[in-house]
Amino acid sequence: MFNMTSYKCTICDNVYHSTSHFFTCPNCGEKGILDIVYDYGSIKKIINKQTLATNTDFSMWRYGPLVPADQKFTKLMLRIGWTPLYEARRLHDVLGIKQLYIKDEGVNPSGSTKDRASGVAVIKALELGADTICCSSTGNAASSLACHAAHMGLKSVIFVPKRAPIGKLTQMSLYGANVMVVDGDYKDAYRLSKQAIETHGFYNRNAAINPFLVEGKKTVALEILEQLNFKPTDWMAISVGDGCSIAGVYKALYDFKQLGLIEKVPKILGVQSSGCAPFVKALETNGPLVEEDENTIADSIAVGIPRNPIKAMNAIKQSHGHFIEVTDPSILEAMTMLGHFEGIFGEPAGVAALAGIKKAIEKGIIKKRETVTFIMTGNGLKDPVNAQKTGKNSINVANDISEVSKHLIENGVIKP
Ligand SMILES: *Cc1c(COP(=O)(O)O)cnc(C)c1O
Ligand SMILES: [Zn+2]
Repeated sequence: MFNMTSYKCTICDNVYHSTSHFFTCPNCGEKGILDIVYDYGSIKKIINKQTLATNTDFSMWRYGPLVPADQKFTKLMLRIGWTPLYEARRLHDVLGIKQLYIKDEGVNPSGSTKDRASGVAVIKALELGADTICCSSTGNAASSLACHAAHMGLKSVIFVPKRAPIGKLTQMSLYGANVMVVDGDYKDAYRLSKQAIETHGFYNRNAAINPFLVEGKKTVALEILEQLNFKPTDWMAISVGDGCSIAGVYKALYDFKQLGLIEKVPKILGVQSSGCAPFVKALETNGPLVEEDENTIADSIAVGIPRNPIKAMNAIKQSHGHFIEVTDPSILEAMTMLGHFEGIFGEPAGVAALAGIKKAIEKGIIKKRETVTFIMTGNGLKDPVNAQKTGKNSINVANDISEVSKHLIENGVIKP
């Protein structure tokens, strides 16, 4: 099936045929997340520097041979991916490093990196002839699923915690999703979605459980590698909730290494919020992940029980990277920095990785001579309420030009 040869369990290493119809390892149960194994030998013939140079598909599907999903649907979909990679104009100086790149995932159709996973989920549902897709989400996976399901004429059933920000909730209802706002946190929303899927046979878009979705998420890093002309920066930084996005970043590095497209694998910096940092704690104690409260403004990464711990830990260990935690005030500060110095507006979880880069530089984890790619995962308009806690205050003026001039002088916009 496609270019995948098999599924491999991340716990027991058992291998299953590519035509198997289960999401997790029958041996290990729900924790037995599967990884997709490819035939790189045959992919090399279709994905290489020559074919990429002439490929005119500027969406995530330019890497179709590395994503096991029926490509016949991709032309009918909203355009996902091939988001811009900017070289920072000022921010690298502010941080004190040589070079910083910013991958702006906020310009995807629903405004976050989740569109890459939803694109795959929608195709998988269509392949199976399902008419309803279901997920639980801190907000972005839900608004993204609602968006792409609407475009392809599928129904969506979505479970979100009460705290989901207004921008995301508005998106879901506008896309016509069946939104269940659960009286509880993300952990509760997850459990309820699992029951709904089991009871009603909906297609399951829960990212960790569904092994295809990481394959969609990885395209963000495949793009970065190609946009950097296959010469990656020393570090790639991304925020971490369930752990699927960071797992995708590592899978991309692995794929391109296997295909001979990159020589060295950059170090991955995984960033969590201090209000919910089970990965950071597990790395510190070298023990298993322990359930945490979900207590941060960075709602998209407020995940008390991460559903993809093995792949995420593996991403850090295999890349010789690091997990780091950042406080809510430092996330707000990073939002202001990104807006002021680069003109990019990110939601708290989207910008947490920038706060993490800053802290990692201060702690000497990232060296001043090193280069960094910052994956900005979500658009700031999704959560205007938190954004209003930071940024520059506006000025209330009377309808009077002399008063305007006075304020402009005070603010140093014009000379007296
Ligand atoms: C989902 C999400 C993340 C984290 O991805 P996980 O796979 O849950 O680790 C980071 N930032 C934003 C904006 C997200 O929506
Ligand atoms: Zn197993």
